[in-house]
Amino acid sequence: MASLAHALEQLLLPAECLVCHRLLGRQFSDDLVCRVCRLRWRPVRPPWCERCGQPEPHFGPCRLCRAWPGALTVARSAVWLEGGARRAVHALKYDGLSRVGRDMAAVVAKLVERPPAEAVLVPIPLGAKRRARRGYNQSEALAAALAQLWGLTNRPELLVRTRDTPTQTALTPAARLANVAGAFAIQNAELRMQNGSRAYHSAFNILRSPLVLIDDVFTTGATLAEAARALANAGCQSISAVTFGRASIPDFT
Ligand SMILES: [Zn+2]
Ligand SMILES: [Zn+2]
Repeated sequence: MASLAHALEQLLLPAECLVCHRLLGRQFSDDLVCRVCRLRWRPVRPPWCERCGQPEPHFGPCRLCRAWPGALTVARSAVWLEGGARRAVHALKYDGLSRVGRDMAAVVAKLVERPPAEAVLVPIPLGAKRRARRGYNQSEALAAALAQLWGLTNRPELLVRTRDTPTQTALTPAARLANVAGAFAIQNAELRMQNGSRAYHSAFNILRSPLVLIDDVFTTGATLAEAARALANAGCQSISAVTFGRASIPDFT
């Protein structure tokens, strides 16, 4: 089914870059964003807060990550959310192009340090309604591609969103925190094994691994912090976070 959807997408899409509309060579026809555009995406670089990766100059303790749960020790983003990178996120989120996740993951894998081999990726879940409307979860698409590139396990079933939270776009940092409070929970999952049999996979076992939260965009970190809080409350002791994009926060000084 996935390969049929892939083949249909290939037929329907012209083989041109999503951002600059340059025609893609046949060997790159699986890409949605050309290599030139990807190289233009501006990496987030140090100096930054060692914990949250925010490159603002800091005098005294960082305000952005001071209220994070202790288990969330580090967050990094690959590129600034601007220009073509913003266009790619938009395509992933709103244009039904889950395959852009692979192009974005390639850039993340190049710019962000690979987590340790025992780490498990955990994409930030969507609420049930939003997921149904979109047909997929964009963070899950990104995490699946990253898991492949990094050779790590991806566990999209571990974390669930207990309610559909309103979109964060228009909210101040404080309002964002309130908006996502208590929005996540852990679930045990029945997993389909490779040989077709089913096994009950206890969330407890996964929580003993270092977990890496995956999201498309980091704005204030409120969503990541809240997801980390749910994982920490369930017993996870080592949590980090990786996002593709980082948005600058206009009202954060
Ligand atoms: Zn391009
Ligand atoms: Zn910080």
